[in-house]
Amino acid sequence: MQSYIDEAEKVLLHTYNRYQVVFDKGEGVYLYDMDGKKYLDFVSGIAVFALGYHNEAYNEALKSQIDKIIHTSNYYYNAPAIEAAKKIKEISGMDRVFFTNSGAEAIEGAIKTARKYAYLKDGSTDHEIIAMNHSFHGRTMGALSVTGNPHYREPFEPMIGNIRFADLNDFDSVMAQVTDKTCAILFETVQGEGGIYPAAEEFMRRVRTLCDERDILMMLDEIQCGMGRTGSMYAWQRYGVKPDVMATAKALGCGVPVGAFLMTEKVGAASLAAGDHGTTYGGNPLACAAVCKVIDLFEKQDVLANVNRVGAYLEKRLDEIAEEFSCVLERRGVGLLQGLQFDRSVGGLIKRAMEKGLVLINAGSDILRFVPPLIIEEKHVDDMIEILRKCIAEIEGERQ
Ligand SMILES: *Cc1c(COP(=O)(O)O)cnc(C)c1O
Repeated sequence: MQSYIDEAEKVLLHTYNRYQVVFDKGEGVYLYDMDGKKYLDFVSGIAVFALGYHNEAYNEALKSQIDKIIHTSNYYYNAPAIEAAKKIKEISGMDRVFFTNSGAEAIEGAIKTARKYAYLKDGSTDHEIIAMNHSFHGRTMGALSVTGNPHYREPFEPMIGNIRFADLNDFDSVMAQVTDKTCAILFETVQGEGGIYPAAEEFMRRVRTLCDERDILMMLDEIQCGMGRTGSMYAWQRYGVKPDVMATAKALGCGVPVGAFLMTEKVGAASLAAGDHGTTYGGNPLACAAVCKVIDLFEKQDVLANVNRVGAYLEKRLDEIAEEFSCVLERRGVGLLQGLQFDRSVGGLIKRAMEKGLVLINAGSDILRFVPPLIIEEKHVDDMIEILRKCIAEIEGERQ
């Protein structure tokens, strides 16, 4: 394994401080490294591999699409894209779909949608978007511009203009940023990278009302919290308010790179038109065959019921951990998107867990994030908790 790592560091651009492991294959909720060591996976490729590894029905669907056709072009129609868009409409209640290759591109599309929608109303080109502090929307220039983390943005300034930042769950802070030029308010329904902060119901409702009153687009980033992770297909569906535009990706293709931005009919009819936006790969038959199968399997395997049951169990077990250890300050999250806030960096904890065969990841330096495959069972939660307790006991003995 070490020789692979050494080679990787000679050829790959070093934009990640990677964990010293090379994963080779997966089975269900387990990963295996090149040396054959087995790991329980509570990361799922960062909220991507929802259906678990080596899901045969999923793999077969991809193989059969590969043998038919992988790519055409968006200048032609293809059946998997039509089918996938119909299914996304059904699970989201949104009306119009544009397929992308990633989450960041879905955010780019949402930003362009908002600007064009406002432009068509008054012909001016100085519209503003309100985004949230501690948000994460991706690494491309547009997505970075709405990402509320100066550390990610600064070396790449200048960003795209006219972005203002407010605080999630602080409606007054949003109001303070609203002007005649505001065209959209964008946030994650549950902030992921920023530390697992769910939007409050009251905040969601007040933003919705504000947007209705001023014809501002409410745009939700459901890239991490969507696709069943919080127990409903999209996290906003638990609040009784609906966005005008939303972004989805990560688990949408369960590993095949695909995302989408979705909008209501009203926005679709008054924003991006022919020639305004495009992508070579986006929505190609292979990616869309994956989307179709993923949505089918969610239904067939009753994934949402599993998330609600095991999510509640995970919550309870993590609450016990927070109670037991003084270095754990708080548990936050919904369903199978959970975080434990520590009084210190969690880097050492994650390394120890890896050594003991448990894959975990952080969200910010002092928050441990739990985003397992959505097919996880109670017994896997128990196994995880057992290893976690050992690791926390070890670090609690150390100096901070
Ligand atoms: C991962 C993520 C993105 C970016 O998606 P990419 O596919 O990495 O471009 C955007 N928003 C949220 C909330 C995410 O978790």
